Amino acid sequence: MKEIPLSEILIHLGENRSRYFNAVSPPVIQSSNFVFDTLEDFRMAIRNELENTIYTRGNNPTVEILRKKLAALEKAEEALVFASGSGAISAAIIGNVKAGDHIVCVQSPYSWTYSLLTKFLPRFGVTHTFVDGRDPANIEKAIRPETTVLYLESPNSLTFDLQDIPACAAIAQKHGIVSIIDNSYASPYYQNPIEMGIDIVVHSGTKYLNGHSDVVLGVLCGSKAMLQKIFDSELMTLGAILSPHDANLVTRGLRTFPLRMERSDSSARKIISYLEKHPKVSKIYYPFADGFPQKELALRQMRGCGGLFSVELKMESIDQAEAFFNRLQRFLLAVSWGGHESLVFPTCAFYDIPGKPNPILPWYFFRFYIGLEDPDWLIEDLEQALNW
Ligand SMILES: *Cc1c(COP(=O)(O)O)cnc(C)c1O
Repeated sequence: MKEIPLSEILIHLGENRSRYFNAVSPPVIQSSNFVFDTLEDFRMAIRNELENTIYTRGNNPTVEILRKKLAALEKAEEALVFASGSGAISAAIIGNVKAGDHIVCVQSPYSWTYSLLTKFLPRFGVTHTFVDGRDPANIEKAIRPETTVLYLESPNSLTFDLQDIPACAAIAQKHGIVSIIDNSYASPYYQNPIEMGIDIVVHSGTKYLNGHSDVVLGVLCGSKAMLQKIFDSELMTLGAILSPHDANLVTRGLRTFPLRMERSDSSARKIISYLEKHPKVSKIYYPFADGFPQKELALRQMRGCGGLFSVELKMESIDQAEAFFNRLQRFLLAVSWGGHESLVFPTCAFYDIPGKPNPILPWYFFRFYIGLEDPDWLIEDLEQALNW
């Protein structure tokens, strides 16, 4: 079968306009509950709560349109959506462990994934080992008889360390364990891990998928069987669902997904080529940048990188780092990324907080996210700020 083009997925797939007055844009079916004409209809519907509309904690027509598009984007049979990326990650991991089980996870995962593994799951007798996933041999060595989950994040969202995804998927398959990957950084536009043998793909859809910094959302993509199991247990029990209104906003955000990704990606590359030549820049972290230690692997498994990169600057003191940050006018200070607005995330903010250890990353490390502004406008701002 010929592959459905991306535009068809984003503009038409999952939409059935004759069911809602032939409206071009799908309405928000803002209803918690759905009624049945006959006992027989009800009896048939309750056989499958994921595929029928009975109650909005399980399924809702507005949310279903989004799920169909997301599954197609990740080339997966099924997709589930959650109230946050963290909710999706928790459901995927909790759904595949029981007391006594063990998880192998890449080192320094997203902060709340780290918290799930180090604080939450140990209360229920689930243990973990963090490994440097840049070498698949470290993963293989960490697997024990009681390991049930391999958790990857490639690239991560700060230093962009990668894992060889097909090699890791093969290790998981060989040992009969479930492989899960956080694909938020590359997004389905630039990387499709299911095609490389991964079982479950996780997204913080808050970032690129929604893309407008107005919805918090999580996504799981995978086989029908694996996701039906998570739906029947973690999704329905913990109930961290996406509202119909938010789902509709994300469907709207997805209409321009390729345009946004390409704009962020090309602007980031332009800004990086400016920074590469700048004498005050000592190191650039971006998977496709020259000198990135895993560039070859990145080119093999990703089609692009998007707008997120980090730099180390040649500075003598934390005061200089603060002054550089204060000179920036066109980058907003914030966590997160993936929206229309360019951001800067300065590690120096995390230094000398009473009662907390200093970060592993140096204070002269800055993460930038390039949004949809004119890249030359942003370069102009960097040019005046990189001046000491
Ligand atoms: C933001 C983020 C998450 C968490 O997603 P939320 O939608 O904020 O819950 C998970 N992983 C990565 C890589 C992220 O950047």
